[in-house]
Amino acid sequence: MTVEAPAATRPATPATRRFAAALRRWFDTADADSATGRQGRIDWLRAAPFIGMHLACLGVLWVGVSATALGVAAGLYVLRMFAITGFYHRYFAHRTFRTSRALQFTFALIGASCVQRGPLWWAAHHREHHQHADTERDPHSPRLRGFLWSHMGWFLTPEGFRTRWARIPDFARYPELRWLDRYDILVPVVLATLLFVIGTVLHRLAPGLHTSGGQLLTWGFFVSTVVLFHVTVTINSLAHRFGTRRFATDDDSRNNLWLALLTFGEGWHNNHHFFPGSVRQGFRWWELDLTFYGLRLMAWLGLVQGLKPVPARVRRAMER
Ligand SMILES: [Zn+2]
Ligand SMILES: [Zn+2]
Repeated sequence: MTVEAPAATRPATPATRRFAAALRRWFDTADADSATGRQGRIDWLRAAPFIGMHLACLGVLWVGVSATALGVAAGLYVLRMFAITGFYHRYFAHRTFRTSRALQFTFALIGASCVQRGPLWWAAHHREHHQHADTERDPHSPRLRGFLWSHMGWFLTPEGFRTRWARIPDFARYPELRWLDRYDILVPVVLATLLFVIGTVLHRLAPGLHTSGGQLLTWGFFVSTVVLFHVTVTINSLAHRFGTRRFATDDDSRNNLWLALLTFGEGWHNNHHFFPGSVRQGFRWWELDLTFYGLRLMAWLGLVQGLKPVPARVRRAMER
């Protein structure tokens, strides 16, 4: 006669262990290295919250719309786009200006609310992109693996999920940034909860605003975040495909006015690949670069310092 072990003590099968580990990684990215799966293949379980965020946008069909909800969505788009372009990109990835540790953390927090992972993960992958742009080692080249991969396939794979620590030792020494990187789901959850609570309170106290918890959650968080995400990653996909090339760089980067408008200046991507060390990406006066103007304003207020200019040799190269 055989006696079965009680369910609680039965050893987990490898499949259930893999499932449990994947769930754990939604909340704690520390064991990203345990992520299994074939190189270059999307880890669908890990990708589920990303897909869920898109589906949640369909909630607009139920919650309706109001000027208040649209205003909150637009305001959060503007603030968070600036945090991504001004800080995740121009500060954490390229160090084109200096700031205090408090402001560094403040904008890291705002950036983390965009569901584009923590600042260390983001900046480290971006440094890898510049180092190997449009070669085999570029994490997201449309030249090698097509539009969808460069837009949103690459970071859903086990290797795209890991933070490339060797690329970001300068900022990895701050424990608060490592913490943000590890628990990257926390800030978005807090923002979503806050929006729901604020919407519910406004529904009760200010009925004239015609909004609700569901509306602020759906428009202010889900729609705003999904639009912000897709616009941000056009720089990896479309800005390496469509536009003009002022500089004959080794990669396929382009300057694109439409992308520059939507991303507050990041669309001058060929300029940026030619000289990534400048805080400014619109090199000509007419190349609109809202992020640069925002950072100039912050410098004037004394919040950031040492904005790195476009050097004379780069200006001379433009004349040729
Ligand atoms: Zn690029
Ligand atoms: Zn860059």
